[in-house]
Amino acid sequence: MAGVFTFHVVSPEGNVLKEDIEFVILPGVNGELGILPNHAPLIAALDAGVIHYTINGTKTKLAISGGFAEVSDNKATVLADTAEFGEAIDVPRALAAKERAEKRLAEKSADTDIRRAEYALRRAIARINAADSKRD
Ligand code: ATP
Repeated sequence: MAGVFTFHVVSPEGNVLKEDIEFVILPGVNGELGILPNHAPLIAALDAGVIHYTINGTKTKLAISGGFAEVSDNKATVLADTAEFGEAIDVPRALAAKERAEKRLAEKSADTDIRRAEYALRRAIARINAADSKRD
């Protein structure tokens, strides 16, 4: 089939997704990575963020908390630390995680691990955004 490539997402919990897709945007640590069919080979580290992919023109969102992506031979593989589809996300839990992280960052006590709190905040924001069907 022309115009598609295989998109495979795996997490420690198992296979998350394996589909032929038209387009995906990945949250690379240095910015978003857009992948179309026959993309050049690539290995990239991913940040906590939202994966957006398109099948038959329909867009779907998947929150990940970081990982790695490999693209080769018309196939994109993501090894994600965690992965949740929008509808599987517990929004109150993510909002509570966001609030906790924001509080830690605002207080910035001597023993606050800033990078850890910032990462928790990015994970929470990714989940909230992936769960929001009104947001692209
Ligand atoms: P929390 O502080 O709420 O535990 P966290 O960012 O520390 O959030 P992770 O360590 O990234 O959580 O994930 C632990 C497990 O819980 C993973 O399996 C992940 O998929 C799941 N998970 C975390 N937050 C949510 C959520 N809001 N909705 C659904 N699953 C979640």
